[in-house]
Amino acid sequence: APHSDIILSARALTKTFRGFTAVSGVDLDIKRGHIHALIGPNGAGKTTCFNLLTKFLAPTSGSITYDGVDITRSEPAEIARLGLVRSFQISAVFPRLTALANVRIALQRKRRGDSFDFWRSARCLGALNDEAMALLEVVGLAEFAQSNAGELPYGRKRALELATTLALDPQMLLLDEPMAGVGKEDIEKIVGLISRVSKDRTILMVEHNLSVVSSLSNQITVLARGRILAEGDYETVSKDPRVIEAYLGA
Ligand code: ADP
Repeated sequence: APHSDIILSARALTKTFRGFTAVSGVDLDIKRGHIHALIGPNGAGKTTCFNLLTKFLAPTSGSITYDGVDITRSEPAEIARLGLVRSFQISAVFPRLTALANVRIALQRKRRGDSFDFWRSARCLGALNDEAMALLEVVGLAEFAQSNAGELPYGRKRALELATTLALDPQMLLLDEPMAGVGKEDIEKIVGLISRVSKDRTILMVEHNLSVVSSLSNQITVLARGRILAEGDYETVSKDPRVIEAYLGA
């Protein structure tokens, strides 16, 4: 049902690459409003699983349902229209445009359906600027509005990437290693940011930094060798001997 507790679910999700099974019979239920983390040692199948859920990869077998809709065979653009959005890669930020212009373009992308005349009017451009500015404020980039995106430090680029994703007003956000490449001094900032944007949204993230996972997630799924090894809150999974062994053995 569209308004069930579970917003995203996978059943028996499986992906085989030329005979090698990277993800094997994974059942996943992600609760509305949760920050859910996918963790596990290298090669566990996290990225493959993430790519299956974001429709960057087609499953070999199994099914995926988002908000009551079967999205097993959907394209990334279709699920984005349903409200399930993957964070953009940094390469998707236009480096020679300002931070503000980048967010404005993302907002326009969402409104593409509206009439051209409406978007040409000066009044509308003003509103668009205001909305873009508000999003820059949300991610703490207001003072960088006129900076070229390409000249922002790495942590700020990630924040801009998040702002362009939020411009699509997603109901659920899929974050692929949000802390990758973020310096120690910026980790707290990005944690705060994710926590803020998680209000009235669901988040699924793949993240290596376990202290980030423990401070943000309500629910954790641990993968190893393509299968679910453990599930629960951080307390529970971090004490699980199978989880400890999988990490030590990696
Ligand atoms: P993780 O993100 O947990 O490190 P991955 O999902 O990247 O794990 O990889 C899981 C396994 O699947 C690895 O053994 C990897 O080598 C293999 N794999 C991933 N993608 C491909 C591919 N396109 N072709 C062949 N093998 C792949």
